[in-house]
Amino acid sequence: MHSDRLKALKAGASIDFWGNDKPKCPHCGSDFDIADNEAWHLYSEDGPHEVECPSCDCEFQVNSIASWTFSTDEQECDDAQ
Ligand SMILES: [Zn+2]
Repeated sequence: MHSDRLKALKAGASIDFWGNDKPKCPHCGSDFDIADNEAWHLYSEDGPHEVECPSCDCEFQVNSIASWTFSTDEQECDDAQ
C-alpha cells in the first residue's frame, strides 16, 4: 500500500476535509476539480462515491451533501405608498 495514503488527512484538521465546495484529496490535500474530471456523479447524494485523485493517483471516497437555500427578499408588490 502507498505510504502516503491519507497523509494529508492525518496531518491536517479533519474540518478541512468537511463541507468543501470541491472534494479535497485526503492523501495529498489537492482539490479535486469536478468539472475537469467530469465527475458529475458526485452531484448525486446517493454516495459514497469513489474517485481517483489526478494529482497522486490514489482513490478516495466522497460523500456528497446537497444544500438548498431559498430567498424571499425580492417580491413583486403593487402596494405603492
Ligand atoms: Zn491526491
